[in-house]
Amino acid sequence: MNSNQFDAIVVGSGISGGWAAKELCEKGLKTLVLERGRQVEHLKDYPTMTSAPWDMPHRNQIPLEDKRENPVVNRCYAYKEDTQHFFVKDSEHPYVQTKPFDWVRGYQVGGKSLIWARQTQRWSKYDFEGPARDGFAVDWPIRYEDIAPWYSYVERFVGISGNYDGLDTLPDGEFLPAWEMNCVEKEIQKRILDAYGDRKFVIGRCAHLTQPKEVHLAQGRGQCMARNQCYRGCPFGGYFSSNSSTLPTAAKTGNLTLRPDSVVHSLIWDEEKNKVTGVRVIDRVTQEAKEYFANVIFLNAACLNTNLILMNSQSNRFPNGLGNDSGLLGKYIAFHNYRGTLSAGFEGFEDGYYYGRRPTAVMLPNFRNVKKQDTDFLRGYMTFYSAGRSGWGGARDLPFGAEFKEANSVPGPWSVFMMMQGETIPKESNQVRLSADQKDAWGIPQLEIDVAYDENDEKLLADFLQQGEEMLTKAGCINIRKSDSKQSPGLDIHEMGGVRMGRDPKTSLLNGFNQMHLAPNVFVTDGAAMTSTGTQNPSITYMALTARAVDYAVKELKKGNIK
Ligand SMILES: Cc1cc2nc3c(=O)[nH]c(=O)nc-3n(C[C@H](O)[C@H](O)[C@H](O)COP(=O)(O)OP(=O)(O)OC[C@H]3O[C@@H](n4cnc5c(N)ncnc54)[C@H](O)[C@@H]3O)c2cc1C
Repeated sequence: MNSNQFDAIVVGSGISGGWAAKELCEKGLKTLVLERGRQVEHLKDYPTMTSAPWDMPHRNQIPLEDKRENPVVNRCYAYKEDTQHFFVKDSEHPYVQTKPFDWVRGYQVGGKSLIWARQTQRWSKYDFEGPARDGFAVDWPIRYEDIAPWYSYVERFVGISGNYDGLDTLPDGEFLPAWEMNCVEKEIQKRILDAYGDRKFVIGRCAHLTQPKEVHLAQGRGQCMARNQCYRGCPFGGYFSSNSSTLPTAAKTGNLTLRPDSVVHSLIWDEEKNKVTGVRVIDRVTQEAKEYFANVIFLNAACLNTNLILMNSQSNRFPNGLGNDSGLLGKYIAFHNYRGTLSAGFEGFEDGYYYGRRPTAVMLPNFRNVKKQDTDFLRGYMTFYSAGRSGWGGARDLPFGAEFKEANSVPGPWSVFMMMQGETIPKESNQVRLSADQKDAWGIPQLEIDVAYDENDEKLLADFLQQGEEMLTKAGCINIRKSDSKQSPGLDIHEMGGVRMGRDPKTSLLNGFNQMHLAPNVFVTDGAAMTSTGTQNPSITYMALTARAVDYAVKELKKGNIK
């Protein structure tokens, strides 16, 4: 048992688990990170990071057979021949879709930190106040002021590029130099601001090193080269991932033990000690069962897997899942509504061009129901647009030679793409459960996902499409086309909730420090903890919540309040 005893255990090595590991190790705790997937070492295990299209047998397309066998992951835009090794195949990790739900996962050391799109906006005070003001879900037990210093703390380490825009709906952070808008994006920004007065689009904030500082160089990371081939793993460490950043930093302390291929089955509740003492693990490769013990446990398996692990942690004390006296575990799952997009043309600016593949877009913070209820639906959406020149390679009818090359190097007309990121309202009916009869390859019950859109989502979508069309029209765009992808929930890859934070153990599972009300040495700091979804990309908030929770947990350990 001694070799299986640690000060802390972290389940999952993705974005939030990497942060938990770094913070715990830096505070001197001998920390075991249990990761169900294989080892992926920064640089060494990025096989396609410098591949050219012609190096790939299918020219970066996914073969038809794979598409047929794995329809869910194939719907993810980032799943291609060059990235497929970092995604879970549906056929290998089945789950039960009570209603259609596209569950996109990355099971490896680093989790989805290797394949995320790296957009990182802070929540505003209005987002944390939303549920209490508008009367849905439960009140967040924290406010913006509680998390603001922790946003700063993680932003400095991660390296976030952005502009200081001074918007109260999209607070500024600790920024590296911002990416630049191109000439058409600037013109659209100006025309929309002139037309509305208060709709100020700003350049996106993202986890890319536009100008690395000492803290980033010390991690072995360097400048982003605007290749936008990030999903393959970056040879420069130009974007933030657990593999390039938090995990190596944790390892440098000498306090980290990382165990890949370790599928966490459940947490161990000791009926005599009346507390969680450790975790049960099944070896991914050998199926051997093991147990590991620690004083404090951080659950960071990503939202739905964290729900699954807690539901599967059954004991005499907690027959319905750990800490679940309220019966709320697995309920109030929410996500982001990405269904609406618009495309358009833009005339003029034919002498304008731009350099590189910028890894972010232009964004407008939510302007609906921000301070008071002013529409017939709850909450709102963030709006993104980008403009680029299309039409390359159009000169196919010319003979080969200099003339052909010359014609093909002329950029085509400008086009504009706009999309939404809508808040969804957590509802009890949107929930996950353990399947009663279906198990996975490790004998663990499969997850049943019962999540759908509702009328509020439809109204919000209709409003975005109408407002988007109006904004693009006022910006002088032409040939505006609106589209509803009708995609299933899940494809947004921002699933949240099920183990929500709150003030009252009767209506929530975690307190204001992500600590389980009924199992105080267990902390949940991934998306499962989210009480509501806001309209921002969520991962920077998970990082800040994690660093804050570790700080609290270690202080509580030292005080003897966690034993
Ligand atoms: C294509 C794409 C684009 C995205 N774009 C953005 C974006 O722009 N901005 C943003 O904020 N977010 C984005 N996301 C979402 C982002 O990736 C997640 O929010 C983030 O990775 C969540 O961090 P996490 O630590 O909770 O989970 P993950 O990073 O998924 O890590 C969870 C880890 O836990 C492991 N695990 C799971 N179950 C077990 C178990 N039983 N035992 C042991 N280990 C387990 C997994 O293998 C995984 O390594 C995107 C995701 C994708 C796929």
